[in-house]
Amino acid sequence: MTFTLFPDTRLTLARDALAGLSVGDALGARFFVPGQAVAAWADALPPGPWPWSDDTEMACSVLTVLAAHGRIDRDALALAFAAHYDPARRYGAGAVELLELIRAGTPWPVAAASAFDGQGSCGNGAAMRVAPLGAWYADSTRRAADQARASAEVTHAHPEGVAGAVAVAVAASLAARARLDGDRPEPARLLTVVAGALDPAGEVHRGVRRAAALRGHPAGEVAEALGNGSRVTAQDTVPFCLWVAATHLHDYPAAIRACVEAGGDVDTTAAIVGGVVAAHTGVGTPGGVPDGWLAAREPLPAWLAAPA
Ligand SMILES: [Mg+2]
Repeated sequence: MTFTLFPDTRLTLARDALAGLSVGDALGARFFVPGQAVAAWADALPPGPWPWSDDTEMACSVLTVLAAHGRIDRDALALAFAAHYDPARRYGAGAVELLELIRAGTPWPVAAASAFDGQGSCGNGAAMRVAPLGAWYADSTRRAADQARASAEVTHAHPEGVAGAVAVAVAASLAARARLDGDRPEPARLLTVVAGALDPAGEVHRGVRRAAALRGHPAGEVAEALGNGSRVTAQDTVPFCLWVAATHLHDYPAAIRACVEAGGDVDTTAAIVGGVVAAHTGVGTPGGVPDGWLAAREPLPAWLAAPA
């Protein structure tokens, strides 16, 4: 079924996903400090401000390009990534190399193809920044998948890196659509639809299919089965994240807590999960991103103000 999604609604859904992504990124990063005790989670969250990292910076570029062009213009996105790149935001080594090439004038297709000795990146960069795009396309999982692919290709030439982004965007599209419909999708059904948007020969696809079959397990066991991002690949990260998001789609704090307790690359897992879940719950609503968490997160960059 198709329906009309007004521009303001798209932007609201995407902004809510960005709020969830950025709070997850910033809070997750507080728990990604070696030696920090995760057990303190339940009683005392770390004091703010919580600085956000590369996940949020790149997601702000994705949303800015969407708002300005009404779709992903890959050249504009590459320029936005390069222009806003701040090395202090803890980018991965591969991303640093690639963004510095683009800043020096290398065309993005050349830079992306040259990464990792010509294999292209299968890291999490394309997945961690894409949930707001998925929410923007709440009316079409097909367009969410197509535009996620375009947004990924700017930095990720490896098919698994692209698949990670497609999977997260389709999940966020479904999450936002369910919010508009007043529905809560059953986790296995949501994950099965996501898997259907992916190349069946890929590892991300296989992981999402496995995730769909896991129910009633603690997050730690699921992370052992699917990975928790500690290998910093899309294959090792996205299936677990989508299991957490689908399982806790109505409860943002519980979803973020599951990421923290599973360990691994927590700012990235919490950014992915937070973006998908907040597309469904919104901000300051029951089960949504808590107002106090949003207030503790470092403000988003001033250059994002344009599409608001
Ligand atoms: Mg990060």
